Order: sequence, then structure tokens, then C-alpha cells
Amino acid sequence: MQLIFQDPFSSLNPVHNIRYHLARPLQIFGHARGEREVTEQVLALLRRVSLSPAEQFIEKYPHQLSGGQRQRVAIARALAVQPEVLLADEPVSMLDVSIRLDILNLLLRLKDEEKLAFLFITHDIASARYFAEDTLVMYAGQTVEGGPSDEIIQEPKHPYTQLLLSAAPDPERIQAGAGSKELTARGEIPSLITPPTGCRFHPRCPHAMPVCKERFPGRTNLGNGHWTNCYLYGAGDESPKTDTSVAQGAD
Ligand code: SF4
Repeated sequence: MQLIFQDPFSSLNPVHNIRYHLARPLQIFGHARGEREVTEQVLALLRRVSLSPAEQFIEKYPHQLSGGQRQRVAIARALAVQPEVLLADEPVSMLDVSIRLDILNLLLRLKDEEKLAFLFITHDIASARYFAEDTLVMYAGQTVEGGPSDEIIQEPKHPYTQLLLSAAPDPERIQAGAGSKELTARGEIPSLITPPTGCRFHPRCPHAMPVCKERFPGRTNLGNGHWTNCYLYGAGDESPKTDTSVAQGAD
């Protein structure tokens, strides 16, 4: 498993060139030995992330590259280890809007062609829909809704997911005007050191009931792999999970 970090301006060491950044993981993990083999593999990695002609990039330093090119190098560095899973933490949010789609499409190509699994963490629910088959929505350390991405976007059930979607720019909703479905945000994101009891969204939820403050609801299955933890849909068919180690979506 390897990480792709959010900020390619700080995840590459400014005093080392691209060859060094890619040769190190190849050598440490024993995937290439000898200068010639290392160079060949570094060039191959640069081509896999569409940095070509690769020979022109191999001796460059991070400051000589654009943000998108740096992120491609960071992705190549992650690939050098031959991972099965990539954890991409907001991999496009630091990039110029015009090149975000290029990087997302590169990651999609790696996912589909090289059968890599991705855990893609984002606050941008639109890119989650574009990228991921399944989406988990997390609020203050609790996963509150999950299922197929299209279903989550088109039929959001949890009030926090509805709030997230209402905050995302949507030309159709703007045209629909006042009649469109929209939630009003209220309150602040809670302290994660002393989070609210029960459902952590209850201080901000327009539908909060007394029970919401007391206990976190169990998971209610809604069909088609779609589920939520919210008393609006019952107390849950399953006991609530406390595990917060897997998350995709906003916090
Ligand atoms: S469990 Fe209660 S507070 Fe939490 S989202 Fe559902 S209705 Fe709102």
C-alpha cells in the first residue's frame, strides 16, 4: 500500500532530482539493481504517468515542474513500490482546476488498466462520484452513509450527505431556483476531542430528535448496497460500528 499526498509542492524533496525520487523506492524494495536497470525503470515509471519524453524529465528538479507534473512524479513514486492499493488523500485539491481532470483521468486509467485498488479521500463529492464506484460519507469520525456512488449522489438519505450535496455547485439546481431541495447549514464542525454524544451531527441536524443525542443509530440497509446510520430510517438493522479506520468522503 502506498500514499499519494495532497500537496505535491511539499511531498517532493526540493534538493533531489526526479531520478533520485523514483530510484530510491525501486532500490529499497529491490525492484531494480544496477544503474542501467534503475534508469530504465525510472523512465518506464515516468511514461506510465504520461510524463514524456521521459528523458527530459528524469534529471529535472521539482521546482522546474508544474503542479500537475509534480503530482505525476508523486504518483510514479508510489507506483515504484508495486503496490496493490493506493491511498490518495485529496490528490487533486492543491492543483489548478484546469489540470485536476487530467490527474483524475490518470488515476482512473491506473485503476482500470493496472487493476489497482484506490481509497480516495476527498471533500469534493463530485470528484468522488466521478472516480469511485462506492462512496462512504464520514462526519466527525463516524461513517454515516455508504453505497454505490451514483445512488448516494442521486438519493442521499443522511442529512449530512444532503447538506454536502447542497453545498456542491450544481448548475441545474441554480436554474431550478427556490423550489430546489436544499438544506440550510447551521452550527459549527464539532470538536473531535470532545465530540457530541450520540449522532455527532445532531447539533447541526434540522431533523434531530431526543434519541439522536443519546445513542448513535445502527446501520439501516436501504437496498442496492445503500445504507445509512440515521434514526430517520429506523434504529438500524445492525449494531453501530465504532471503527473509524476506513473513510471516504468528507469529514
Ligand atoms: S440520527 Fe438524528 S441527528 Fe443524526 S442525522 Fe439522523 S435525524 Fe439527524
